[in-house]
Amino acid sequence: ANKLRSTKTAASFAMGLVNAEDGKVVTRFPPEPSGYLHIGHAKAAMLNQYFAKMYHGKLIIRFDDTNPSKERTEFQDTILEDLQLLGIHGDVVTHTSDHFQILYDYALQMIKTGKAYADDTEQLQMREERMNGVASKHRNDSVEDNLAHFAEMTQATTEGLRWCLRAKISFENPNKALRDPVIYRCNVLPHHRTGDKWKVYPTYDFACPVVDSIEGVTHALRTNEYRDRNPQYEWMLKALGLRKVYIWDFSRLNFIYTLLSKRKLHWFVDQGLVRGWDDPRFPTVRGIRRRGLTVEALQQFMLAQGPSQGFVSLEWDQIWATNKKVIDPVAPRHWAIATDKMVPVTLTNGPSAPEVKTLPKHKKNPDVGEKKTVYTSTVLVEQEDAQSFEDQEEITLMDWGNAIVRSVTKDAAGTITAITMDLHLEGDFRKTKKKITWLAQPSSPHALAPIVLLDYDYLITKKKLEENDDVKDYVTPQTEFRVDAVADANVADLKKGDIMQFERKGYYIYDGEVDGKKEFICIPDGRAASLASKS
Ligand code: ATP
Ligand code: MG
Ligand code: MG
Repeated sequence: ANKLRSTKTAASFAMGLVNAEDGKVVTRFPPEPSGYLHIGHAKAAMLNQYFAKMYHGKLIIRFDDTNPSKERTEFQDTILEDLQLLGIHGDVVTHTSDHFQILYDYALQMIKTGKAYADDTEQLQMREERMNGVASKHRNDSVEDNLAHFAEMTQATTEGLRWCLRAKISFENPNKALRDPVIYRCNVLPHHRTGDKWKVYPTYDFACPVVDSIEGVTHALRTNEYRDRNPQYEWMLKALGLRKVYIWDFSRLNFIYTLLSKRKLHWFVDQGLVRGWDDPRFPTVRGIRRRGLTVEALQQFMLAQGPSQGFVSLEWDQIWATNKKVIDPVAPRHWAIATDKMVPVTLTNGPSAPEVKTLPKHKKNPDVGEKKTVYTSTVLVEQEDAQSFEDQEEITLMDWGNAIVRSVTKDAAGTITAITMDLHLEGDFRKTKKKITWLAQPSSPHALAPIVLLDYDYLITKKKLEENDDVKDYVTPQTEFRVDAVADANVADLKKGDIMQFERKGYYIYDGEVDGKKEFICIPDGRAASLASKS
């Protein structure tokens, strides 16, 4: 299936962009600095970079900062950091606000050429009129009146604040995006870059085509939910006599059980339902990286998505499966045992003193390094494994050899409290059904490391929230699962952010130490849900 997908990708991209000339293509990624980047933004950014590179052109990172109510410098800085992390390197960083004067002059031009008019119709009524194809009462105001009202807007006078500027395209076009969209509105809040210089700001619908054109963008990549707005984008450029920009639609990325809207993500942060924007439950670039998704897997996945036009919500499985292929060959192997009810095993003929052996951290990849495994005459095994042993069963202690279960002690509740085994190192490990991870007793010279295994559930209980659904009604009550465990002391080698595997448990990313315990976040691998969340 993977081979098929890559062939399909190559074929779709071979079609490339229309009218693209090598060396002359300019694309842009235009985030609004109103939140942190999420996985949907990552797709847009990666596709833009992909095409800029493919044609040896240029990528512009443009902050689309036209709404002082939502935007902050803090977000701009973190967006730049996240782009770095994603391996996205723009050739230039620009701001829509760099062009406020030009945009303003173009707005004046629109008024003077009769292509824009000022309107003070109430917001609700305007929405209704646009819906029903009714012309505004100001649609045919004179240029002088419009200029006067726009001047009031520019000063943000009491009168001016009641008005907005609309493009005069049509009031009844079947495409509602063409029904005289608003192109300028007042905002008296200070702008994070231009301060209080401006009281009027262009809307996205106006600023985007104009700035694309004047910044030299040749191909504007837009998510296809804007497709209805494409004719409007083209209209603006024509109305101002500006250079044409080619639009290339791609499908907006959506995942099941996942919110990809900055507004809703803000809500989760504000409610304290997550620990912050980098919470491993979050679909932000920071969140998914903290959860163990690699940039390489993200890139492979996004490019495989390519120009598909589907509106469906994707499962997370596929991206995690892609990630697993990236991390499996390099993830060091360690062992961990859940502390709750772990079972001491006495090996009657075990080593009289602790022995230490040097073993590879990854059996198939010596480059991953070496670890020390301690062999003692009493070892610890997981309760769950112990429960599966049959009387006199021969099992395999991994990285050691076979052992035969001789006696099992249980308490009244059926919990196994002790086991005795005979080592049977001549036994053939290929003939045993159970290969068990184990750990040397903590009293051995190489102490065990106390750790916490963390796993997470989706934040919402519904696959796809509809327009009218209130997020509040779909918050998953418990989304974090913690299991105390011990691990082999070699985990001391790990640095925060390292990806590894606890054998027979799954892949984890080391998230740092809290209260003397190393915390590990389970990385989904695209298969069944992991141990921690189900226990
Ligand atoms: P949000 O709803 O999260 O605020 P947005 O589209 O308003 O998203 P912007 O910062 O304006 O956020 O988006 C920057 C770019 O990223 C835009 O070109 C937009 O089309 C693209 N983008 C945003 N969300 C997605 C997504 N889910 N899939 C693909 N591209 C996306
Ligand atoms: Mg936007
Ligand atoms: Mg949005």
